[in-house]
Parts: sequence; C-alpha cells; structure tokens
Amino acid sequence: MSATYRDALRAALLYLVLSVVWLQFSGYLLNSFFDNSTDLLRWQLINGYAWVAFSAGLIFIARARLFRCLGVGAKLRERNADRERLRQAAAVFDCTREGVLVTNSNGLIVHVNRAFMEITGYQCEEVLGQRPSMFKSGHHPPGFYQAMFATLESLGEWSGEIWNRRKSGEIYPQWQTIRLVHDDQGRLSQYVAVFSDISAIKNSEHELTHLAHHDPLTNLPNRLLFTDRAGQAVASAQAHKRGCALLMIDLDHFKLINDSLGHSVGDQLLKGVAERLNTLFGPGITLARLSGDEFALLAENCPQPGHAAALAQRVIDGLKERFQIDGHSLFINASVGISLFPSDALSAEQLLRNADSALFKAKSAGRDSYALYTEELTAHAQQRVEIAFELRRALEQQELRVYYQPVHDLKTSRLIGVEALVRWEHPQRGLVSPAEFIPIAERTGLIAEIDAWVMRQACQQMCQWQAGGVVLSFVAVNVSSRLFARRELYQQVAQVLHDTGLDPAYLELEVTESAVMEDPEVALEQMHRLRELGVRLAIDDFGTGYSSLLRLKRLPVQKLKIDQGFVAGLPGDEDDAAIARVIVALAQSMGMQVHAEGIEQVEQAAFLLEHDCDLGQGYWFGRPVPAASLDWVRAPVIG
Ligand code: C2E
Ligand code: MG
Ligand code: MG
Repeated sequence: MSATYRDALRAALLYLVLSVVWLQFSGYLLNSFFDNSTDLLRWQLINGYAWVAFSAGLIFIARARLFRCLGVGAKLRERNADRERLRQAAAVFDCTREGVLVTNSNGLIVHVNRAFMEITGYQCEEVLGQRPSMFKSGHHPPGFYQAMFATLESLGEWSGEIWNRRKSGEIYPQWQTIRLVHDDQGRLSQYVAVFSDISAIKNSEHELTHLAHHDPLTNLPNRLLFTDRAGQAVASAQAHKRGCALLMIDLDHFKLINDSLGHSVGDQLLKGVAERLNTLFGPGITLARLSGDEFALLAENCPQPGHAAALAQRVIDGLKERFQIDGHSLFINASVGISLFPSDALSAEQLLRNADSALFKAKSAGRDSYALYTEELTAHAQQRVEIAFELRRALEQQELRVYYQPVHDLKTSRLIGVEALVRWEHPQRGLVSPAEFIPIAERTGLIAEIDAWVMRQACQQMCQWQAGGVVLSFVAVNVSSRLFARRELYQQVAQVLHDTGLDPAYLELEVTESAVMEDPEVALEQMHRLRELGVRLAIDDFGTGYSSLLRLKRLPVQKLKIDQGFVAGLPGDEDDAAIARVIVALAQSMGMQVHAEGIEQVEQAAFLLEHDCDLGQGYWFGRPVPAASLDWVRAPVIG
C-alpha cells in the first residue's frame, strides 16, 4: 500500500475514534448531571453546536491531511515516472546507432555516447572538455560553418551533410542534426548533435553514378558522359577563345574477330584497345567508348586541324601494333572522323554528328585512315537523305534501268557473258551511278526491292536473247551483302527462275568478298542452298576484303573476280602484277575461274591473258549499255 493511502486511512480512523469518544463522553454527562429538561435542551443545543464544530474541525483536519497526502503521493508518482523516463533516455542515448554529442553553452563537449566512439574512433575521455572543431575535416570552406551557426541561431536547429575527420585521420561524410537546448529561464544551456555515418550510402551512390556514366567493359566514359564532357569542352573553348576537336574512332572489320574467334576474344580486344588508347594520351584528352567498336576522343585544346590530324594518325598507328589475346595474335585497323570547334561545329551534338559524317568519309575512302569534316560533307549527307526519298519514287515510277556490260573470254576474245548493272534515269539529274544510290538503298532497306527487280529483268532479258538465238554462257547479277545475309534470298532467286523460266545454269550471282566474310557460316549455308538451285556463284571485288583462305576453299564458288583496283596498275605496277598473279594461281588451285574487271587497256588484257586469267571485262571490251545497244559481233583481238 502506498504512503498516501496509509495517511488517508490513518486520518479516517482518527476521525472515527474521536467521534466515538466524544459521543460516549457527552452521553455520560447527559445522564449524570442533567435531569432538568430545560437544562437538557440547552445542553443538547450546546452539545449539538460543539459536535458540529468538532466534526467540522475534524473533517477539515482530515481533509487537509488527505490532500497533503494525495499531493505527496502524486509528487512521488511523478518523480518515479521522471526517473523511468531518464532511465529510458539513458538507454536510448547509449544504444542508438547514431552518434550523439552534447556540449555545454560554451561549446565544450560534456557527453558523447557509445556510437559516437565507434564512428569517430575517439574514447570518451579524449573528447570531454574539448571543442567539436577538433573533428573538422578541412573539406568545407569557412562560410559553411558560418551559415550553419546562423541557421542554428535563427531556427534553433540545423540539419545537413557534413564531412568530419575520424581519429584515424580518415575524413567521412555524416548526416547531422544539431539542436539548441534552453533551461527553464530560457537561457541556452546545451548543444545536442546527433549524426550518422553516411559513407556507405555515399559509396553506393558514387558506384551508381559511375555505372551510369561508364562502359562496364572498358571502364571508359560512355556516350552520356562523353557528350557532357564535349559540352563542357565547347563552353570552355568558347570562353578561352581556343579550338577543340572531337575524333570518332571505328575499328575496321571488328565483327570478323567477334564472329571468327568468339565474343570473349572480341571483348578482350576491345579492352586492349581501350588500354592502348589510354597509354597514348595524357591529360586534356577524354577517351570514351560510345558503342560496340566505336570509340571517341575529345581534345580540349586543339588549335589547328593539323593537330587533330596528328592525333588521328597516332590512334591509327598506335592500334596497328599486334594485340596478343588468348594465344591469338590480332591486328586491327581503325578509321577516324574528325570534327573541329569552332570551324565545323558550335555545339557538342553538332561535333558528334559531324565527326560521324567524317568517319563515314574515312571508311568510304578505304578505311585505315582519317578524314576531316567539311561543309561539303554536310551537303553530302543532305543529298543522301534526298536520294533515299526519291529512290522510293524511282522504283514506283520505273526510273531504274538495267545496263549490260560484256564479258569476254580472254583466250578466244569471244563475248561469253554479261554483267547486269543497274542505273537510275533521274528526271532532272540524268543517269545516276549505282555507286551513288546503292549504299543509300542498302541503308534504307530499299536494296531488296532493287536487287529483286534487276534479277527479274536480267533473267527475262537472257530468256529473250536465248529465244533470239544469242548464245551466252551467263548473265551475272550483283547481290547486295545486306540480302546475302538474309535467308529469303534463296526463295527470291527460286521464284524469279520459276517465273521467267530461265535455266539456273545461266544465272550467275555476284557476291562481294566482304559480304561473305561478314558472316562466313551463314554465307556458307546460303551458298550451298543456292548451288542446289543450280545457279553459278562468283566472288566480286576479290582482294579488297579479308578472306580467310581456309574459308574460301570451303565455299561452293565457281569464280573469283579480281577487283579493278589491282587491274588498274597492270602491267607496270609490280605489286598489282604480283597480286593478280597470286589470285589467278589461287583460283586455279581451287578449281575456280578467274575474271578480271576494269580492263581499260590492251596491255592489261595482254598481261592477264599471259598469266592465264580466264575472263575479262572493262571499257576496253565495252561499257555497260542498254540491252538493245550490245555489240554482239565485236570481238577485240588482244595483242
Ligand atoms: P561491280 O559489281 O564491281 O561492277 C563493276 C563496276 O565497274 C561497274 O560500275 C562498271 O561500270 C565499272 N566498270 C566496268 N568496267 C570498267 C572499267 O574499265 N573502268 C572503270 N573505271 N570502271 C569499270 P557501276 O555500274 O557504276 O557499278 C558500281 C557497283 O555498284 C558495282 O560494282 C556493284 O557493286 C554495284 N551495283 C551495280 N548494279 C547493282 C545491282 O543491281 N545490285 C547491287 N546490289 N549492286 C549493284
Ligand atoms: Mg559486280
Ligand atoms: Mg566488282
């Protein structure tokens, strides 16, 4: 029982005992002394008042006592609750994972908790009586602390990220809340700081940001970061009135490595390229991997086009050295497109776009080289868009024509076959060369329709010639590499042969060497199926790609066409002569025919005849012409 109840009970008992005693005493007096009724009445009255007064007094005393007891009890209860609260607060203070630091109004540390010691590495006795400035990291400028105290003074509280130093000397970020505490009189009595160590969060934030801005394979900046840096470089170049350059780098025929040696070797080569490029360039140059085998380089200070060209040459030469990967010795070439600020472009996006156009130019010029962006290139790009648009119309309006170029047997000089070559009879521009529109048709996907149309025309024409008694061994049509990779090519050829009724043995399909080597496995399968149809197969522009002789041997091909680039130098150029001889020997060893294209002079024809080349085609024999203009009788005599 609590003291309060005990006191209340005691007061009630006292009141009861005294009441009984008084009643007894008054009864006794009544009986002993008064027999007179008047006296008795007076006595009873006096006694009544006295009784009431006595009772009231007693009640008053008891109630005062009771209230005092209740007050004491309540106070005791309150003190107990306070003690409980303090115990809880102490437990929280000690167990919380947040570091807690309390200073007095003079800013001297008076309390720290266990978490504080764990986070900072300091023991309690090392910090008590010290100022929190002992943890300063030097990371923040003085203005930071001034702003913090100003907020504390005006709002009574400050929260924010702050970098402090642990006992080990390591600086780390913490999220901290500082609050002012006032006493009952409203005077500042303490500062309480509660903080948590957020270095883990910061690290993962940092990792996430890194991942979002870097290529995971090479760890180089990705397109996002590179574009951002290019933007900064342009702004800085503008401010400092200097030039900067953006170089777009593309590895030549990288796909071949991926396809022939697998993606793991391809990936390692890309890593190797990134490392090699990194060693070539120092600060002031940002390297990035934009996609697949496309890298980019940003030179923040590049005053002249000559400097950019020198950088490009360094990239090309630097990558030429062999890469040793998984026991393979790999060689890779690169093409580079250059765009300059401010002469070519005024923004990062424009720099990227123009470097890309210049890269296209470098690749078209035969790869393994660099090209600078020029205004003329932009005009070219615009023209390409226009051509793509008009080409659709050309197909619908039947503006395409098929020309035929004669192919002669070099030994007999006899016309033996023709190559079908497409032309575009543009209403305004006249006859447009396929070299101009075929690459665009390939990119827009229109090539499928064009090739199918040319094939149909050529087969029909061959049937007409045959019906007219003209004897030719073949009509050759070119098949785009884009179609060659597609399995429906077989279907298309079969359909055309069926519709036109041409004997498949008279149709020759020319496939470029690079198309075959782009995906050799698909090419092999495709070629076998086409051979089953009975058509002839030739490899066009031989010598310009990267044929593997082993693969070549497995292909069911009847003919190699020596690229006109090697014929041009004949017979004087020793390299061209050696290459031509090797190709003839190679073809013969594999049981294939050899067909030289681009013969413009009799000496070229004579050299090829002398070295056992079978067939010849070129302006010297005849230019491509419409079917009706073919000269059937002319048989130029070599030598
Ligand atoms: P190609 O298949 O290698 O055709 C030979 C090219 O060399 C033709 O150019 C031809 O006119 C040209 N040529 C022939 N003899 C000589 C010569 O003595 N000297 C010189 N300098 N050139 C000669 P053309 O007709 O402009 O065709 C260019 C390329 O366009 C073709 O090269 C072929 O790859 C492609 N092509 C042409 N027609 C078609 C087609 O119907 N479909 C596809 N996919 N490509 C085609
Ligand atoms: Mg051809
Ligand atoms: Mg060719």
